[in-house]
Amino acid sequence: MLLVTGKTYTYKSLGVIDMILVSTATPRGGEIDPVLSEQLTKVAAFCINYLKINRFNALLNIIVSKRKGYISGGVGGYCSADRQEFGHHGKMWNVDIEIANVGRGEMMSVLCHEMVHAKQYLRKELDIDGNRWKGKAFKVSSKDVYALNSPWEKEAYKLESKMFKALLKHPDFQWMKKYNTDFMEK
Ligand SMILES: [Zn+2]
Repeated sequence: MLLVTGKTYTYKSLGVIDMILVSTATPRGGEIDPVLSEQLTKVAAFCINYLKINRFNALLNIIVSKRKGYISGGVGGYCSADRQEFGHHGKMWNVDIEIANVGRGEMMSVLCHEMVHAKQYLRKELDIDGNRWKGKAFKVSSKDVYALNSPWEKEAYKLESKMFKALLKHPDFQWMKKYNTDFMEK
């Protein structure tokens, strides 16, 4: 497990992650490939700064299965978040992001997408159980299985694309160019 804080892991060009601790693990809490772990952590750090969610007290757990392929149902990723009691630290956000073990470029893009959902939870823009978006009721149609017509998915796809393009231009992320990014053309 890689535990990252602003104190030990900073990027001059990315700014500092203040309050969000990022870790990576398999669903059973095992270690994932160290190269992949660092790549995911760096991309998460970029998104934290881009989305300006540094100030939140949160544990961000990025989970990747050893098993290759999409999560059941062809899903590329999930994000859930809740407030939890952490002993004398008091209440903190606990954010779980699962990323399907697929092509490396696609995984980074999916992480950008799920980081937008993390932002939506932390800022209390999205209340998925209460069917609310920015204080207003929004009910996803039962025909819209992936909620693609919801304002939170529209925002997530839009910002995913913007952040991923920004990453490809960023000097710290030139390594991403060696991975297939054709899926972005869709
Ligand atoms: Zn989404």
